[in-house]
Amino acid sequence: MLLGLSKIIDAPGESVDFRASVDLSDLQYGKSYPVCEPVIAQGTVRNTAGVLVMTGTVSTTIHGTCDRCAADLQRDVELPLDVVLVTELANEENEDEWVFPLVGESADLEDIVRTVFVLNMGSKLLCREDCKGLCCRCGKDLNQGPCGCQKEPDPRFAALKQLLEK
Ligand SMILES: [Zn+2]
Ligand SMILES: [Zn+2]
Repeated sequence: MLLGLSKIIDAPGESVDFRASVDLSDLQYGKSYPVCEPVIAQGTVRNTAGVLVMTGTVSTTIHGTCDRCAADLQRDVELPLDVVLVTELANEENEDEWVFPLVGESADLEDIVRTVFVLNMGSKLLCREDCKGLCCRCGKDLNQGPCGCQKEPDPRFAALKQLLEK
């Protein structure tokens, strides 16, 4: 999906607004494909002193299974879009910004949205950031409270204890 930028490429101060729907339903996390709803990218590309800066948001609702507790999850996500578009990729990388090459005089929105989405979401799909997961012994969902299992002693301390007892 290309966003034409020929109007602003050589026009400092000019900008183009965009709103587009991108299909990322082929993105796989574990066994699930959580991005089954369209991903909406919206924002502005502005020619700032000759540099094309794209800002906006990428948002969608994901449906899937938590990687830690296996609960079904449905989460609205809204990720910041803040990238720089360049005609040629330079060798020097700017750490603060994500840099994408233009395709002719257009921005490849699908490529940008896909990259921003994947990098922001990380590799795990969680029902919430601090999901406690399931007890590895009894399988209880630790989000609902502690289970009765004894905490496994830290093997390093066990070895140390053995040494001290000798
Ligand atoms: Zn979870
Ligand atoms: Zn347990």
